[in-house]
Formats: sequence, structure tokens, C-alpha cells
Amino acid sequence: MSIFDAFSLKEKVAIVTGSSRGIGRSIALAFAEAGADVVVSSRKREACEAVAKEIEERGARSMVVPCHVGKTEQIENLLSEVKKAWGRVDVLVNNAATNPAMGALVNTEDAVWDKIMEINLRGVFAASRAAGRIMMEQGSGAIINVASTGGIRPPALIGAYGVSKAAVIHLTRSFAKELASSGVRVNCIAPGLIETAFASALINTPEIYQEALKMIPLGRHGQPDEIAGAALYLASDASGYVTGHIMVVDGGSTIG
Ligand code: NAP
Repeated sequence: MSIFDAFSLKEKVAIVTGSSRGIGRSIALAFAEAGADVVVSSRKREACEAVAKEIEERGARSMVVPCHVGKTEQIENLLSEVKKAWGRVDVLVNNAATNPAMGALVNTEDAVWDKIMEINLRGVFAASRAAGRIMMEQGSGAIINVASTGGIRPPALIGAYGVSKAAVIHLTRSFAKELASSGVRVNCIAPGLIETAFASALINTPEIYQEALKMIPLGRHGQPDEIAGAALYLASDASGYVTGHIMVVDGGSTIG
């Protein structure tokens, strides 16, 4: 097998949560270009359908299943719909996440904390559990969690978000250990500052942005497509001997 073939996702079924825009969309399009059948999912069907159209324009199969990852029954439905329609689940990317408020931890309300944990952490757990059962039965699969450098170094003003992402990193390792003997690999990507709607408040506030730039050795923020390559590596056979890994893609900010 050539090294390029090892990066192929031909005949693989991949689900990407939060793929209607931003990093999730870039990952979904990259997977389609690598030959996967791609399930586009987020809360809003219409936004997902636009991405599904882009996938089909690239000659790949696509399917939309809306899912709010804070709702376990919707996650269970997502996995069972895909299994019913396409017979298998080879790759799950847990990308959807939220950060409803900014501020000091001492001023963070229980409701904000609960919302963050429900979506960013329990959602990843519930989707990995549902996909894990299918993948164990298949004897193969790859789960990729999108965490954050905020889960490695505590971020200012989004402390609860950072805690949720630190937990996602640990959850990655726990699932990796449990599922390895079933042929299922579980890895994680920790992006730094990436230009999406999610990071727009930060990137568009010059005082905050200039401070953030000082922390990035490569001297710039990243683009969503710069995360897609890492996801493709972790989804494909090219990373067949990699599990429980946290791949940092951050322009060097965690070493800066
Ligand atoms: P984004 O552009 O805001 O996209 C977020 C995606 O998630 C959208 O498709 C959104 O679609 C979906 N979503 C939001 N809440 C959801 C929910 N409850 N259930 C299902 N889908 C939901 O954000 P992004 O920057 O690409 O973020 C993607 C991932 O990267 C997140 O895990 C984030 O924590 C992580 N990350 C981002 C950065 C950065 O600088 N951008 C840095 C580190 C880590 P709907 O609104 O239709 O649901």
C-alpha cells in the first residue's frame, strides 16, 4: 500500500458533529475528498444541507442527520440512523461544542457550568459510547475528539470551557484504553486559535487579539482547513498504530 493510499477513506462512513460550519465543515469536506461517505450534523438542518451539497459536488455521498449533542436521545438517533442507512460507522468526529459566557470562574453560574459540561463533555461521552458499541461489533473504528489547547493550559475568562476540554482529553485516553482490544482507536485534536464564528469575538477585538498573537510562535492564528489534515490522519489507516494521542495544532502556542 502506498503512503497516499493509507490516507484514503474510501468505503468508510464518517460522522462529523457540528459540521455545518467552521472546523467541522472543513473536516467533513476533507473526508469527502479522501473518499468517505460523510454524515453532516448540527442542530440546524438547513445549514447542514448546504455542506452536504458541497460534499456531493466533490463526488462523495452525504447524509444530513440533525442532532443536538446535549440531548442523549438525539445522539442515539444519529448513530442508529447512520447504521440503518449505511450499515456501519467507521469514523466519529466529536467536534460540536459551545461556550455560552465569558468571565471569571468566581462569577460563573451553575447553569452556565452545566450547559458547558452537558454539550462539551457529556455529548462527547454519549456519542463515543453509542459509536463505541457499533465499532466494537465491527472490530474497527476511529473516534476523534476536538478538544482545545484550553484543555492543556487554563485559559483566561473561559475557565469552565477549559475544564470541559481537559476532561475531553482524559475521556479520549480512557476510551482509547477501553476500546483498543476491539480494534477501535480514539484520539484527540487540541486546536489553538482558529478563525471561525466561535473565535470571532477574540479575533475581532484588537486588544485581546494582539495579546493572543504574542503567545503564538508562528505569529498568526490558524484556519479551519489547517485542522482538517490532522483529522484525516487520525481517521485514516495512516495512523493505524496511534491511539490515546492528543495532537496539538496551535502554531506553537503551548510551547510559546
Ligand atoms: P463554530 O464555527 O462556532 O462551529 C460550531 C459547530 O457546532 C456548528 O456547526 C454548530 O452548528 C455546532 N453546534 C453548536 N452547538 C451544538 C450543539 N449543542 N449540538 C450540535 N451541534 C452544535 O466553532 P468552531 O470554532 O469550528 O469549533 C469547533 C470545535 O473546535 C469545538 O469543539 C471548539 O471547542 C473547538 N475549538 C475551536 C477553537 C477556535 O479557535 N475556533 C479553538 C480550540 C478548539 P449549529 O449552530 O447548527 O448547531
